Amino acid sequence: MENKVMMQYFEWNLPNDGDLWNKLKADAAHLQEIGITAVWIPPAYKADEQQDEGYATYDFFDLGEFEQNNTTRTKYGTKEELKQMIDELHKHKISVYLDAVMNHKAEGDYTERFKVQEVDPRDRNVEIGEELEIQAWTGYLFKGRGDKYSDFKWHWYHFSGVSFDDAQKKCGIFRILGENKYWSEGVDDENGNYDFLLCNDLDLDHPEVINELNNWGVWVSNELNLDGMRLDAIKHMEEKFIRQFLEKVRTERGENFYSVGEYWSDDLETLDNYLKAVNHSTDLFDVPLHYNLYRASRKGKHYDLRKIFHNTLISLHPDRAVTFVDNHDSQAGSSLDSEIEDWFKPSVYALILLMEKGYPCIFYGDYYGVKEEKSIHRPIIDVLLDIRKKYAYGEQKNYFDDSSIIGFVRMGDELHTGSGLVFLMSNGVDGKKTMNVGIEHKGQIWYDITGNVNKTVTIDEDGNGDFLIEGSNFSVWVKS
Ligand code: CA
Repeated sequence: MENKVMMQYFEWNLPNDGDLWNKLKADAAHLQEIGITAVWIPPAYKADEQQDEGYATYDFFDLGEFEQNNTTRTKYGTKEELKQMIDELHKHKISVYLDAVMNHKAEGDYTERFKVQEVDPRDRNVEIGEELEIQAWTGYLFKGRGDKYSDFKWHWYHFSGVSFDDAQKKCGIFRILGENKYWSEGVDDENGNYDFLLCNDLDLDHPEVINELNNWGVWVSNELNLDGMRLDAIKHMEEKFIRQFLEKVRTERGENFYSVGEYWSDDLETLDNYLKAVNHSTDLFDVPLHYNLYRASRKGKHYDLRKIFHNTLISLHPDRAVTFVDNHDSQAGSSLDSEIEDWFKPSVYALILLMEKGYPCIFYGDYYGVKEEKSIHRPIIDVLLDIRKKYAYGEQKNYFDDSSIIGFVRMGDELHTGSGLVFLMSNGVDGKKTMNVGIEHKGQIWYDITGNVNKTVTIDEDGNGDFLIEGSNFSVWVKS
């Protein structure tokens, strides 16, 4: 089997030029050439305003087709351009995963009056004051689209909480009152109950909401011929909803319909419990690994590299882990700012791209750059993708035996002639490590294909080599 690589094809500061779909379409052949097998595209449906990144959802069924919120296109382009882009990617054997934002919607078209209970943001089970009637933007008309694709119209009772009372012009967390209404149970327990995130929070226990989102999931997957989804903000969403949603979509699209969830938690036990709750029906981003990489990049030589995989999803459920370095939320200046430092990025991209386990995801910002400034990392990521495609096969033997220099051997496999490699990384000192690549390689000359170490290594009678590494860098050795 060939090695898969996902690319997150956006960052937070893209220009609002409506050109991303066109740009991605034009990039399809190049992406295939460098070994990208899937792209995660941003939310492609109408948001509250044209320049929005797509997470302030307004109308799920408007993929840049109708004049709504003063725009037909989204930040990224029109529906026609979106469909053409996906066709082009498919021609190049690249799968497309859509970002699905089903936790919340941005404000609607008109206000409605209803009863709520304000709660404490730090503990959403604690009530503040008496119940009261508020006026909030929970009515949705979708005037530009009308009833095309769906005649469902959202009202206050389809939500579990809102963040703004227009009558008092007051912000807060207002839990909506009514029959069967409370926060969902199957959500993260941070802040008492983390159902509510922001804006108008969808009531995922409401049968009409469940039905509408299921219909949308099937519709959008068929309409765009999607291969999968990236599920946004699932720690704030009822587990039961996610589980049945994926079942519904897979019934229509097939069992191989891919899913990766964003459960933003550094706690492995929390992720493990979530996977159990959804019956392992989705992959998750390895957020604990991201934070290990972040801490390692900040601590430099004071970090014990032997712990780099401690308490990570990849260590517990390697078949469910999407490994990544950074994304649009962790990039500098974003909501979960925890960007890995530049000196360390090449080493950790090498780590996630060359190791046996995990489904690696490359961030647009690290490859193409942010704010239209070119990334300094693209050349080395290109080299690593090429190494991944040609050499990163076979069993992995770890040498996680030193606090500042770790590495592994990939033994190669028969399907990929000449495959197999030695990887080393250091967070401080220069050094060397004796590693065994297999007796069948005795007498061979190996070299560092990255050019970081300009020397060769001769494999001895037992298959051992003394592989070299420069301080705060990495090296990848293959047969000459
Ligand atoms: Ca929620």
